[in-house]
Amino acid sequence: MIPLAVPNLNGNEAAYLQDCITSTFVSTVGPFVNDFEERIAALSGTSTAAVLCSGTTALHLALEGLGIGEGDLVMVPSLTFIASANSVSHARADVWLVDVGASDWMLDTARARAAIESQTDAHPDGRLHRASGKILRAIMPVMVMGAVPDFDGLIALAKEFGLRVIVDAAAAIGTTYGAQVPLGATGVDAVCYSFNGNKTVTCGGGGAVAAQDEALIARIKHLSSTGRVGANYDHDIVAYNYRMTNLQAAVGMAQLERLEDFLAAKKSIRDAYANFAANSAVLSAFPEPPHGQNGHWFSGFWYTGDTPEIGAKFRAHMKAAGIDLRPFWKPLHLQTPYLDAWAEPMPVTGDLWERIFPLPCSTHIPDADKATVLAAAAAFWDNHGARA
Ligand SMILES: *Cc1c(COP(=O)(O)O)cnc(C)c1O
Repeated sequence: MIPLAVPNLNGNEAAYLQDCITSTFVSTVGPFVNDFEERIAALSGTSTAAVLCSGTTALHLALEGLGIGEGDLVMVPSLTFIASANSVSHARADVWLVDVGASDWMLDTARARAAIESQTDAHPDGRLHRASGKILRAIMPVMVMGAVPDFDGLIALAKEFGLRVIVDAAAAIGTTYGAQVPLGATGVDAVCYSFNGNKTVTCGGGGAVAAQDEALIARIKHLSSTGRVGANYDHDIVAYNYRMTNLQAAVGMAQLERLEDFLAAKKSIRDAYANFAANSAVLSAFPEPPHGQNGHWFSGFWYTGDTPEIGAKFRAHMKAAGIDLRPFWKPLHLQTPYLDAWAEPMPVTGDLWERIFPLPCSTHIPDADKATVLAAAAAFWDNHGARA
């Protein structure tokens, strides 16, 4: 089976892991943790960052560090991985789901503004959501496929209504906004990354928060390390054990040495699938929003024709050809834990998600595998009268 995305561990990963074993620094203290934290801050254009054990915990602690919790609402796009919403639930707040834009697949600021204007009133901490009595405190834009959203538009929306902006940049490490502005310097409150095994840069598992506000990062570190005060067993809050280990950071450091190569490989895979889609009347490449340097974490194409049921046939065809083609994220408003969440109408997300075909996109995918994927796709779409 040609996999969707497997980690590329052919650099210094093994050597740096051996350093951890030799030095016995395998836990949450160690030189790789400090170095990785510095590199994440530098890449994000911030003076500090906090490195954690997952992307989910990064989002959770960014929210909690900003004082968002019980009685609060966070606006989240429905087209995302469930962890975005789970982080809000873990912080004991509630999600308010909104649709994504048809052209970029990311939080639709126009729909968000209309929903906020019609359903909330001014409040000192954000906006009072009349129907729930809860306070909308923040928006959580998601960088779908590693693409870069219109940050100026998102920040203008947040300013207008007194909201925080917590960016789910899980798969968007190395992307920049506009004229190469790093994500943490765009004016948002916090940028959260994941280093799970299927992301462009992996630590095996891991996450990070980068922010301009050094006091926020200090709170996140305190929350992530059991609320410990001083060197003895003194703790001043009920906190978490969410830290990254030196083992994880060792892998992360080796990965970051090759970040530029990884991003170039992702772009070249994207171009191959985009070229394929360009020859079809019913396929389109994933969006390439014009706001910055996109990350192309996942690439592939999506079906734009009139019979979306064909998607199941295409998936079965690819499976039979030995290619791992699964459905993309099932939207949050259709997920059991969020069926009762506050949700706006979803004309884009509801129709879109089953049309999306994420194709194999490992950074070191062999040319022969790429050719196999494209040939199998051509065999299907030629037979379905779809290629121009
Ligand atoms: C991977 C991912 C996460 C979660 O990260 P974990 O490290 O798996 O906890 C959150 N949001 C999005 C959009 C993701 O792709």
